[in-house]
Formats: sequence, C-alpha cells, structure tokens
Amino acid sequence: MKKITRFACEICGTEFADSDKAKHCEKSHKKPKEILHCRYNPVGVDTSGYPQTITVKMSDGKEILYKR
Ligand SMILES: [Zn+2]
Repeated sequence: MKKITRFACEICGTEFADSDKAKHCEKSHKKPKEILHCRYNPVGVDTSGYPQTITVKMSDGKEILYKR
C-alpha cells in the first residue's frame, strides 16, 4: 500500500502533490483590503438595493472593479 500526500491551497482549495506549488498558489492570491467606490442603480431599475458595481483596493494596491 502506498500513502499519498496532497497539499491544498488554503485560499482556493486546489490540491497539489508538491507543497511548494500549494504555497505558490496561496501567495498568488490578492486579498481585498477596502471598498473604494460603490455604484447603485435607482430603485426603479433595481429594487434589491445592492450595489451594481464595487471597486476594491487589493493587497497589492491595485483597484479592481466587480460587477453583479
Ligand atoms: Zn490557490
């Protein structure tokens, strides 16, 4: 019987046979730090009240726009 060891990225859950590849995957993920802007639609267009877009400042300093 052969024991098989796998390593999972703590951020995205992807499994790797090599621990260095799992560490590399974890380090590659940028984390959200702060919401900089929110854009809303009027209630006549969207009754949910949630933002249509948000701009997030990430751990590497870049500003990324997310839409729903
Ligand atoms: Zn990952």
